[in-house]
Amino acid sequence: MSYEGNMLKEMAMPPKQEVEKVLLKTLFRHDGVVKEFSSGEEIVNEIADIFSLSEEQRTIPLERIYKKENRIVRTPLWHRLLYRAADSLSNSKLIIKPSVTHKLTNKKEWMLTEHGVDKALELFNIPIEQKDYLLIKSYEVEKEVKKLTDKPAPANYNPIGIKKKITVTGTKTLRSRGFRQAVIENYDYKCCVCGLKIKSPNFQFWEVEAAHIVSHTQNGKDDIWNGLALCRLHHWAFDVGWFSLTDDYKILISSLSNKIPVDFGKIWDYSFFENGLVENRIILLPKNNSLFPHKKSIEWHRNHIFHR
Ligand SMILES: [Zn+2]
Repeated sequence: MSYEGNMLKEMAMPPKQEVEKVLLKTLFRHDGVVKEFSSGEEIVNEIADIFSLSEEQRTIPLERIYKKENRIVRTPLWHRLLYRAADSLSNSKLIIKPSVTHKLTNKKEWMLTEHGVDKALELFNIPIEQKDYLLIKSYEVEKEVKKLTDKPAPANYNPIGIKKKITVTGTKTLRSRGFRQAVIENYDYKCCVCGLKIKSPNFQFWEVEAAHIVSHTQNGKDDIWNGLALCRLHHWAFDVGWFSLTDDYKILISSLSNKIPVDFGKIWDYSFFENGLVENRIILLPKNNSLFPHKKSIEWHRNHIFHR
């Protein structure tokens, strides 16, 4: 047995396959990404805690001789084991190495692949259909996000695309998941109208939704300029035309709100139209103005959906 193998046995370290499983689950809990394991990263301790490792198991060094440079490198055995587990997951195409994700995101992180997300769902017993409601980063979805957010905003934009044929290829799903991820991240996981930001108690599901300004049924594009992050209530109110936006992103409320029955539009004493939607208030906007909703999309919504 190798020196490293002997040490792993002597120190009663967890088996590599177990570390692999826990690593996949940890990546999933961290929305699909964790930083590379240089010492001092919280993630290294978080996984050590799951295995209840002792202080010695966490810190005992492994000495490796670099023959070329004729020097000895000491790495904690635990980091080495984590790295080996990650490397093996990367060879099975379940995760992507920091050297590769760096080219996409400028950050050195381990990131799940689509295949890795599926495997993690299986480990958590979460049905695969739930995947569309999760905001887990996968390498493939992040590539779509980059495509959507890297382009400068066009002056002349048509938010309506050509009628899509219904295909069963994976491309459409990736594109629409990229749209959802990009829009929601762009608005910092908040409803742009009321600012609500909340996750499920198990930290898996965000309440906020990525709304199309020109809806999908009208062939609205999956573009960042045709998206808004809205809570479920405001998503509904936007889609049915209770409110729209001005060209300078102020809230416009339908005049029909004055004609509804007295017990409508109330959450106990809270008025949906007076407190929840504030006329003329500017919505929360992304930091980068080339990612703002496009005026052409908003104009379409005002002319076709909004009830003045
Ligand atoms: Zn809201």
